[in-house]
Amino acid sequence: MENTKNMYLELGIDEKVYDFCEDILVGLKERFEGIDANAEFNQLKVLNAMQKNRVSEMHLAGSTGYGYNDDGRDTLEQVYADVFKTEAALVRPQIMCGTHALNVAIAANLRPGDELLSPVGKPYDTMDEIIGIRPSKGSLAEYGISYRQVDLLPDGTFDYDNIAKAINEKTKLVTIQRSKGYATRPTFSVKQIGELIKFVKDIKPDVICMVDNCYGEFVETIEPSELGADMVVGSLIKNPGGGLAPCGGYIAGTKECVEQASFRLSSPGLGKEVGATLGVNQSFYQGLFLSPTVVAGALKGAIFAANVYEKLGYRVVPDGKESRHDIIQSVELKTPEALIAFCKGIQSAAPVDSYVTPEPWAMPGYDADVIMAAGAFVQGSSIELSADGPLKEPYAVYFQGGLTWYHAKFGIMMSLQKMYEAGIVKI
Ligand SMILES: *Cc1c(COP(=O)(O)O)cnc(C)c1O
Repeated sequence: MENTKNMYLELGIDEKVYDFCEDILVGLKERFEGIDANAEFNQLKVLNAMQKNRVSEMHLAGSTGYGYNDDGRDTLEQVYADVFKTEAALVRPQIMCGTHALNVAIAANLRPGDELLSPVGKPYDTMDEIIGIRPSKGSLAEYGISYRQVDLLPDGTFDYDNIAKAINEKTKLVTIQRSKGYATRPTFSVKQIGELIKFVKDIKPDVICMVDNCYGEFVETIEPSELGADMVVGSLIKNPGGGLAPCGGYIAGTKECVEQASFRLSSPGLGKEVGATLGVNQSFYQGLFLSPTVVAGALKGAIFAANVYEKLGYRVVPDGKESRHDIIQSVELKTPEALIAFCKGIQSAAPVDSYVTPEPWAMPGYDADVIMAAGAFVQGSSIELSADGPLKEPYAVYFQGGLTWYHAKFGIMMSLQKMYEAGIVKI
């Protein structure tokens, strides 16, 4: 592979960096085979759902105006339902992002006087305003919906005793976040989530269990909806959009829950019947089709990075050997210089805006400057290779994505190259 090596050198990778990385990869062969086997299964799952629903060329076209009788949209929703093994699904470009999908799913299924419970600690930051943890106009709190939270035990496991105590006659919906997001707890496996759902339903069978599935889709061969979740919710500019969906979100679940969500998303009385897809159907289908292999590439990138930086003495979460339940990797880089160099490397490896130099910046909602690297085809897409981190102790970078494994690999090599050039690491 002398030619390939020369390409890396031409692209600015030092021979020492290259050799160090290739050496790490030798030890990852078996892990990667396991990831490929998962992707193969998930590819067949998606293909099967598409064939079963007789996806045809006509479905790839879009509708305008009200979007009545959009067969492409309705069939895609049935494909999603089959992939997630649910009765129904709502998959729409009108769902603006993951936060919007979560808001629709939760708000649609609660009424004044009901209570929402998070048995897995504080949810993703953007949920604070939805719930009213941070007061906000239109929050659930303003509509008389209360909220309760049970934190995880210090070892990151479920606090079953206190969860049992927290469930009461008002508890209507339980929200379970699969991915750690940008918190420090572990990400839950689908099996763990299934156990938690069973525990909750044994106490209160009619409670709705919803899983925030962001970053988790296709990482395993089963989804939380196969182990009792009434709804799984996510963003199409993350895993299931496969990098091709230009926007959108999904809610897959029971007929009742999805119907409630559809009346909230559009309007009571209208529900799923309206909603033009304009030109997005093809990218939604094609993105879902590619998603299992895209997720596999992102996972390989995360594992590669964990092993590279672990070997250099940095704390990485998850560690180099741990099993994976989402596509996010964090590396504690210890100094601002290292964090900045890392992000510069990711940026300079991008297909778009590679010549741009990312700089730390004050961002609303953050108490420290934040540096972000992204050179993406879809704005803000985090299934594409991207990295960010706040400039404060322990200078952790969070990164995820990569539409192809080779791009993820190059990005990580470039991050190391920039740290090497700055004299931060010795190889
Ligand atoms: C990304 C994410 C969200 C919110 O999604 P946006 O598209 O950024 O609004 C919610 N929960 C988790 C776990 C996420 O990773």
